[in-house]
Amino acid sequence: MNDAVIIVGGGPAGCTAASLLARSGKRVLLLEKETFPRFHIGESLLPFCNRDLAKIGIWEKVQKAGFMIKPGAEFVLSDGSGFRCFWFGESLAAPYDKTFQVERAKFDALLLDHARESGATIHVGASARSFREGPDGVEVEYELGGKIERAQGRWLIDATGREPFLGKVLRLAKTDLGIPKKMAVYAHFRNVRRSPGKAAGNITVVRLSGGWFWLIPLDEEKTSVGMVRPLGAFQDGKGGPRELFEATVRESRELSGRLEKAEAISPFRTTADYTYRLEHLAGSRWLAAGDAAGFLDPVFSSGVTVALEGGVAAAEMILAQPEGSGGFSSRQQRVYTRRVHALARRFEEMIRMFYDDRSFEVFMTPRPPRAMKKAVIHLLAGNSDLNLSLWLRVKLFYLLCVLQRHWRLAPALDYHRNPVVRSGASPVTP
Ligand SMILES: Cc1cc2nc3c(=O)[nH]c(=O)nc-3n(C[C@H](O)[C@H](O)[C@H](O)COP(=O)(O)OP(=O)(O)OC[C@H]3O[C@@H](n4cnc5c(N)ncnc54)[C@H](O)[C@@H]3O)c2cc1C
Repeated sequence: MNDAVIIVGGGPAGCTAASLLARSGKRVLLLEKETFPRFHIGESLLPFCNRDLAKIGIWEKVQKAGFMIKPGAEFVLSDGSGFRCFWFGESLAAPYDKTFQVERAKFDALLLDHARESGATIHVGASARSFREGPDGVEVEYELGGKIERAQGRWLIDATGREPFLGKVLRLAKTDLGIPKKMAVYAHFRNVRRSPGKAAGNITVVRLSGGWFWLIPLDEEKTSVGMVRPLGAFQDGKGGPRELFEATVRESRELSGRLEKAEAISPFRTTADYTYRLEHLAGSRWLAAGDAAGFLDPVFSSGVTVALEGGVAAAEMILAQPEGSGGFSSRQQRVYTRRVHALARRFEEMIRMFYDDRSFEVFMTPRPPRAMKKAVIHLLAGNSDLNLSLWLRVKLFYLLCVLQRHWRLAPALDYHRNPVVRSGASPVTP
């Protein structure tokens, strides 16, 4: 397979690139170290990823898979005050008026099967170990069933997620985004109280004074619940991450109410220290996509959308190269890096806004100007392609955030009014 594209990693980024390339007639070899289905965190999609799912021909299958429909996103303070719900359908027409909450074991298996049906050769249980780049192509050494194998190809896409294969092998430089390091602790639960009516499919983000919780309904019974707080909060506390999770639930009126009868039905898992961005996302014969290119705080559920967009961008880069090309020029490498960074930056701005108490008040204002509301809904939906009018509205929103630091244009929120309502009894039954 000397002319093949080798893709390392079979998550959303890798499968998107594999499907698109294979459907365009390229020979594709995808190496995935795990056997699927396997657990993965990252369960809430954004409406604009529907477009990429359609582009790779899997949209119908996703619609028929029985995933929970997500029509909007809710934000609320820990004591239950300041509730805001953003319905995608208020500013967006089909197919962007809703999307899905997905159990990743099932969603990722669907994507991998689709890549295979699209014509990609898939090796599962195959862990890439080393990489060599020559003038005409690449060589990857991987371990499969206890044996070391070699594969040669023209191009390589690194889609290995948060512990990037090429990032390590090539010691690629990381940019410090200046966002404080965080840790997440999470599990699946049953009997979590949901929002009423069609809001039952929404993601709920509960903003704490230093962090946040997510509640993501996955099916009729199962809800994913996770807490994100600065690393320091875990180091200072007594007990482990689960104890801190439970103590935080007890201290919050909103969370203790929703989790009053909740019962954990999976182990508690943790993920720490996860924000980074690689400076260069392309070399002469390789590209990085998805989390392998960089990872952002998940508060706006951006990861899978960015991974799908990255997979599309990487595939399009390769498809645009003429047969027998000598590799990506420095200019092409910069163009690719800029394209992928641009989308990540849009979410970075939002994340900074979320953690800034004053800016968050503008986001949560109960009666936003119409122009601003539309912009915010497009941002929450993951629109990477803003037209001039939307771009100006987004700028207006961030301008109001800056002004809010000096003059209170939006009503103040009380982040610290967070009475301990149910001290004693744990709302989380093991
Ligand atoms: C706490 C938390 C909450 C999150 N919540 C959300 C959310 O609600 N919504 C959202 O969209 N995103 C969320 N994310 C982000 C989301 O998980 C990721 O952005 C997304 O999975 C990235 O997809 P990917 O394809 O780039 O990488 P992955 O999904 O991580 O896939 C990478 C694949 O590469 C394989 N691999 C790794 N190394 C090798 C190797 N050497 N050889 C072969 N295979 C290899 C892995 O086994 C894996 O299957 C969250 C993340 C965290 C940490």
